[in-house]
Amino acid sequence: MDPTPTELKKLTEENAILIGWSDGQQRRYTFAELRKSCPCVTCRNERKAAQAEPMKLTVLSPVELQPVKVERMSLAGNYAYRITFNDGHNTGLFTFELLRKLGTVVDGPS
Ligand SMILES: [Zn+2]
Repeated sequence: MDPTPTELKKLTEENAILIGWSDGQQRRYTFAELRKSCPCVTCRNERKAAQAEPMKLTVLSPVELQPVKVERMSLAGNYAYRITFNDGHNTGLFTFELLRKLGTVVDGPS
């Protein structure tokens, strides 16, 4: 069986999320990493466009210049988290499978 989250902690001072998994692993995710890894179609296309034209400068809106924060994380079904960021973005579904690939292991089996 694939590991599932058993614990979710928001480390506000570190701008990070800590997830404990059913196999004993703990992984730490920074807000910025989660925002950058948003798997929704819009963000995927933006990342693809940025790769295709690396010299193109993107003009950031004032909202985008704010430090990224996770406002809310809620379970979507029993396979993913929907993350709401402080820029209002919440269309990305972070599946458990994806979350096991992101972040860094801070405790437990790697
Ligand atoms: Zn997105």
